[in-house]
Amino acid sequence: QSLAVGLISGATVTLLLTLWLDRRNKQEETGYVDGVDGLIGNTPLMRIRSLSEATGCTILGKAEFLNPGGSAKDRVALNIVRSAEEAGILKPHTGCTVFEGTVGSTGISIAMIARARGHKAWIIMPDDQAQEKYQLLEKLGATVEKVRPVSIIDKNQFVNLAKTRAEEFGDGETRGYFANQFENDANYQMHYETTAPEIYQQIGSKMDALVLGAGTGGTLSGLALYLKPRIDKLKVFLADPLGSGLFNKVKYNVMYAPQEREGTRKRHQVDTVVEGIGINRLTNNFNMGRHLIDDAFRVTDEEAVKMSRFLVREDGLFLGSSSAVNCVAAVRAARQLGPGHVIVTLLNDSGQRHLTKFW
Ligand code: PMP
Repeated sequence: QSLAVGLISGATVTLLLTLWLDRRNKQEETGYVDGVDGLIGNTPLMRIRSLSEATGCTILGKAEFLNPGGSAKDRVALNIVRSAEEAGILKPHTGCTVFEGTVGSTGISIAMIARARGHKAWIIMPDDQAQEKYQLLEKLGATVEKVRPVSIIDKNQFVNLAKTRAEEFGDGETRGYFANQFENDANYQMHYETTAPEIYQQIGSKMDALVLGAGTGGTLSGLALYLKPRIDKLKVFLADPLGSGLFNKVKYNVMYAPQEREGTRKRHQVDTVVEGIGINRLTNNFNMGRHLIDDAFRVTDEEAVKMSRFLVREDGLFLGSSSAVNCVAAVRAARQLGPGHVIVTLLNDSGQRHLTKFW
């Protein structure tokens, strides 16, 4: 049975890779890409000089901030919207609205993709995020609804509300569609189909470790599911901000350590200046690749802030908060493995949309 599963998944991967490469070849034939969607993906892998020299390892960052909407979420938004179109749920230029509950990046990518493909976007966000994200969403023509950050068990929590709003729109011609990035398979699958094969082509089996944080977990699962079976020695490390429950889940298989439960942090709320990663529940996208995580690193706000300033000073690299957390954890992985290893991490977005909070 496992041989059959292996053969089928091998064939699927080959087909997906062929389709992806075929698209790239078409671009090479014409010399141009088709619309904003065509700018998504194929991001470079960059050696981070300062961290590589300091550790004696090769620390590589996948420059996802170069996507047209400024983050890795462009890939996911494109796949979610495209899948809903293919399923006949979203029909371009008929007034359909894509709803999403997000801390920002996914909303910005959905707003952009919705415009590009003839839909509307309605984004529901907690009201404590960096101001420039709300402004960007409005400029992209999305309807923005800010709500108080409350527990996931509250019906007014931003993700729950996005689902309710989509349902309120009904399923007629001008229907609402709940993008549901936390549970939607189109999220991790897009990283499996694009981000992961790109990394494999760029560095392949020379890679010793993959280090990244999880918000929905889509990036982590997509990358781990593709890369681990292909690179025997590969270690996958989770980078987790303080206040997130994933670290304890990976290390001790409990969502909350006793000292955290007794602390000031509220259950289901991640109290950190880091935006986009760290969560206190298990999502479908995280669960898909959870079994492939080897170890986890805790990263404090202070460490992330210091790392972000260091990278500007030493490398001229201006990153957002989750990328800074990833870089702190990449250095920890380098120290754990020792000099001479190749470590890949994700540079999810730039510092530009983190000016008013993290920076
Ligand atoms: N970095 C940023 C800036 C993000 O917005 C997100 C997604 N919320 C992530 C990292 C984490 O990606 P994923 O959802 O795939 O775990």
